[in-house]
Amino acid sequence: MDVTLLGTGSADGWPNPFCGCASCRAARVSGEIRAQTSALVDGRILLDCGSETPRQALRAGVDLTGLGAVLVTHAHPDHLDPSMLLYRSWATDTPLEIFGPRPVIDACSQWVGNGSNVTLTVVKPGQRIDLRGYAVRVLPARHGGTDEAVLYDVQAPDGKRLLYATDTGPLQGDDIAAMSGAHYDYVLLEETFGDQAVRRGDHLNLTTFAQTVQAMRAVGAIDRGTDVVAVHLGHHNPPTPELARRLKAFGARVVPDGTALSRQRAVAQPVPPRRTLVTGGARSGKSHEAERLLAAHRNVVYVATSGQHPGDADWERRVARHRQRRPETWETRETLDLVRVLSKPGPPVLIDCLTLWLTRALDLLGAWEDGADLDRVERDLEEEFQRVAEAFRTTSRTLVAVTNEVGSGIHPETPAGRRFRDLLGRLNTMIAAECDQVLWCVAGRIVTL
Ligand SMILES: [Zn+2]
Ligand SMILES: [Zn+2]
Repeated sequence: MDVTLLGTGSADGWPNPFCGCASCRAARVSGEIRAQTSALVDGRILLDCGSETPRQALRAGVDLTGLGAVLVTHAHPDHLDPSMLLYRSWATDTPLEIFGPRPVIDACSQWVGNGSNVTLTVVKPGQRIDLRGYAVRVLPARHGGTDEAVLYDVQAPDGKRLLYATDTGPLQGDDIAAMSGAHYDYVLLEETFGDQAVRRGDHLNLTTFAQTVQAMRAVGAIDRGTDVVAVHLGHHNPPTPELARRLKAFGARVVPDGTALSRQRAVAQPVPPRRTLVTGGARSGKSHEAERLLAAHRNVVYVATSGQHPGDADWERRVARHRQRRPETWETRETLDLVRVLSKPGPPVLIDCLTLWLTRALDLLGAWEDGADLDRVERDLEEEFQRVAEAFRTTSRTLVAVTNEVGSGIHPETPAGRRFRDLLGRLNTMIAAECDQVLWCVAGRIVTL
């Protein structure tokens, strides 16, 4: 199966030509123009055909002379421009089969002349089509009314299998169950809205994209060998390098228009880092980034090191807000025993955060008390740091830890403050050395160190 992505953009494309936002400007400056989403399989089956699609094929170095069938997801103009049937008729009248929900077929019928070799077939979710050796399954989409939009599952004669999944909102339990054990080779999954909340449930953003990937992984629709590509991308997404970084955490990727997937997939498969340290100043977006990195996991153990602060209303409000942001399937564990958590196999772990862990470790060692033997405290801590670093090195779990960058502020006034700053710097350095990836958050932007 040869898959050429003719377009990877949303209806308005990305950049939107009328828009001056930073995301559109970045795309324009780098020359990354994304046209309306569609894909060509083996030069024979076209998935969606918006007004830009036929020209996009030429730009990708392929043509549509061998086209035998068009599978259309729905009748929105970025997925169907039936005037192409007229332009095609000026060149050839070889047989062509068009499949789509009722509105698609109604729109096409006005462009097909009497005695034409073009056949039009209405499809419904659940239907199977045998397309000269290609097994096609029609799946439901969450986009507008029922029977108005569908997704396609295409298996080629060589056994390779593709899911074309645009446009849709979050898929429901039954939709996902229908993909059980599919082990797709390619999943083209829409991700229209980036970090923007989706008002109507007709599309996905980065959060619901991650959840969909996770749900598909849980039923064996996506496995290690699946090339998961985000499509139908719009300008609410961050610029491509940042988008690529974000998708990598979910085992997915972004490619330019015109990419032939089959030829480059072996080198391109993104492997998410297993251990990540996220550092930054207060309110820099660290916790948010840490949570986003694990968004494609259903079960995560959230290790809270803050302890209880009874009577502190401001604290409780912050904790409640953070908790609300996390999926219900995540488990919160209050503990300082990081070694114990990391030494056991299990789901991914998010430690938030090492700064509070150190604060409480110092509490337990009585470091803040008058006349405390601070040299002894430091020796004890150094041993504890070694044990934690060792646990980071040997753990079998996927791990994200959050910490603070306190060394670049003003020089602390008190000796205790200076000691704390120095110890945290030491701890961060030791942990960073054990991590596959270290991210630095500044003003909500992420720098890979
Ligand atoms: Zn669309
Ligand atoms: Zn824009």
